[in-house]
Amino acid sequence: MIRRPEPEAGEVLVRVGMAGLCGTDFAIWTGERPVTYPLVLGHEFVGYVEALGSGVTRVNVGDRIVVEPNYSCGTCALCRDGNRNLCLARTAVGIDVDGCFAEVARVPERCCWPAPSGVDDEDLLMTEPLAVVVRAVARAGVQPGESAAIVGGGTLGLLALQVLRGAGARVLVLSRSPRRFALAHELGAEATHAVSGGSLEAVARTFSGREGVGVVVETAGTPEAITHALTLVRPGGRIVLTGLPHEPTPVAFFGVVRREVTIVGSMIYQDEFPEAMRLVAAGVVRTRPLVTHRFGLDALGAAFAAHAQPDSIKVAVLSS
Ligand SMILES: [Zn+2]
Ligand SMILES: [Zn+2]
Repeated sequence: MIRRPEPEAGEVLVRVGMAGLCGTDFAIWTGERPVTYPLVLGHEFVGYVEALGSGVTRVNVGDRIVVEPNYSCGTCALCRDGNRNLCLARTAVGIDVDGCFAEVARVPERCCWPAPSGVDDEDLLMTEPLAVVVRAVARAGVQPGESAAIVGGGTLGLLALQVLRGAGARVLVLSRSPRRFALAHELGAEATHAVSGGSLEAVARTFSGREGVGVVVETAGTPEAITHALTLVRPGGRIVLTGLPHEPTPVAFFGVVRREVTIVGSMIYQDEFPEAMRLVAAGVVRTRPLVTHRFGLDALGAAFAAHAQPDSIKVAVLSS
């Protein structure tokens, strides 16, 4: 059945240009993350406005836009507080409603951000995960010259590295595998460390020149990664968690109290899309070196297979 979406009031029909495939899509694809079918997957995308529902005023047909693929109810107490990322009635495009692995996608007008002119689709492809780390780094309150560590060398880690560098931090990247360390150095990492070997505490002390790093941004979402973060941080330091650890995670809270560590959760984004696009347009963050694979929409199965390959960072799907 071919379903041609029509924009309803307040909605925009987007002609999808380029979409990114991420771990969430892959978890849905494999069945690990349950969703209700039929569903068009995909939530990271750039495209053109093709048609407008009634009452749309912020965008026009033909505008190139980046889509923020989460929208909140707008009326609950959390939304009224400004915490729309925490809304319990939040809708995720490509998870709760049809997404962007298609020729066209239907989204509310308020999800559409004008793409900065002169910046290619491929450079804007990672605006969504970049907005996640822009928020995380802001919540860390990093100071220029401060030492920071990133746990996880995937898309979020390599983006967080660049945002932290942009904020003036010195950055250590930790990953299970040294596979991406050359790229991490190219993107501004001062040091890298494979977590399998050696004492992380010693690594953090050597890198920071003091009792540990001031800030840790955790991007892996695993219990081990949280343990690593607690080992790396200095007394009085901050840990920002961006990964969602689905498993129960044992935490030695003795150290949290004794070392007065601040642990902060950071959930997607509130108003970070413009800043994410600004960082890309200004060249502070380079996303293109992270695009390792490109497939047409007709090769979506191959795109998902490529995501599972060890050499893959970001797989792009070209819809038109
Ligand atoms: Zn994603
Ligand atoms: Zn709400």
